[in-house]
Amino acid sequence: MKRHTHKPETKAARGAANLEKKNGPLSIPIYQTSTFEVTDNDEQLRATHTDHFYTRYGNPTNTVAEKTIAALEGVDAALTFASGMGAITTTLMALLKGGDHVVAQRDIYGGVNKFLSQWLPKMGIETTFVDTTDYEQHARAIRANTKLLYLESPTNPTLRIVDFKKVASLAKQHKLLSMIDATFGTPINQHPAEFGIDLVMHSGTKYLSGHTDLICGVVAGRQELIEKVWETRTTLGNCMDPHASWMLVRGLKTLAVRVARQNENAQRVAEFLSAQSKVRKVHYPFLKDHPQNTIAREQMSGGGGMVSFEVEGTAEDARRVSESMRLFTLAPSLGGVESLVSIPVLTSHAMIPAAERAKMGVTEQMIRLSVGIENADDLIADLEHALEAVAASQQVQVG
Ligand SMILES: *Cc1c(COP(=O)(O)O)cnc(C)c1O
Repeated sequence: MKRHTHKPETKAARGAANLEKKNGPLSIPIYQTSTFEVTDNDEQLRATHTDHFYTRYGNPTNTVAEKTIAALEGVDAALTFASGMGAITTTLMALLKGGDHVVAQRDIYGGVNKFLSQWLPKMGIETTFVDTTDYEQHARAIRANTKLLYLESPTNPTLRIVDFKKVASLAKQHKLLSMIDATFGTPINQHPAEFGIDLVMHSGTKYLSGHTDLICGVVAGRQELIEKVWETRTTLGNCMDPHASWMLVRGLKTLAVRVARQNENAQRVAEFLSAQSKVRKVHYPFLKDHPQNTIAREQMSGGGGMVSFEVEGTAEDARRVSESMRLFTLAPSLGGVESLVSIPVLTSHAMIPAAERAKMGVTEQMIRLSVGIENADDLIADLEHALEAVAASQQVQVG
């Protein structure tokens, strides 16, 4: 009989639990311990590389989260971290050394931009930033000492889509490691490792945990790379707490249904916004007029829960729209069951100079939505009401 492999929905819900084992708890235990007893010193030596030694090195509750994510991404192994930034900084420090060079896309998370441009140079590691969807520019930026290609897709907040096939083949051709921040994509909508991208990273704070109640990060990839990252993680010490890992595992169980609903809701919201006269532009990968719509449809099974749009008006109008919403809550972050709204130039992109923001296409009129799992009609009614508030204010100004 042909061996049946589980689909992502099943992997997320059942995770790394051993389905053959009887009489065990369905919810995994929280190993809330810093250390583990051994019978003798020989066992002590053997335990060092396991999840039964010392929790900075590993912990059985963390292992369940890590195995579930590795299965979801379709790779050998994964590691959890105290935050998404912890996952990124630790991985980059594990894989790079003084004298190395990185090629990174321009549209990446603000914190990573800062790490690459301000922190890594202190260790003699330089980065060249390139246009996210101009792969010729990527190729031209590669030098003899280039070690790593750093990617993000879909991007924040412009929702550009990176062509996985193209970047993976570019990395292969130049013998570079490739690493992608796939937070917005989730392991339900896309699987970058299938295209040959070496390391897939998520801020688990967002969709993976899904309930706006914890901070964590994960990196997944081939065993030999993950081992290097593991060594650096034990040295830098930004491991995840077992209790947080348990919450992450609980969140993962509903990842597939949450993301399916968020995909549907975001599509409805994006289509609604596209038809509004007070909206200049809508950015959503599964809208037909999105510049990378074809690639998005090829490599993603859903457009995701993030939508951004530009208000027809001023920066002040954008602020007013965001503050007029009731269901969409004004707060940074994303990926939870509750819909959130934020203004990128005031939050995620506040630390990026205006000229650089302009190159990224991040305008003062831009509003970013993280669409949750509420009823889409209610979300649309909230947006309709918020846009009316602006129309009214503009009439007052004219009159
Ligand atoms: C939030 C976020 C991060 C950083 O993750 P933290 O868990 O906040 O450290 C990195 N990349 C993206 C795309 C994010 O949205």
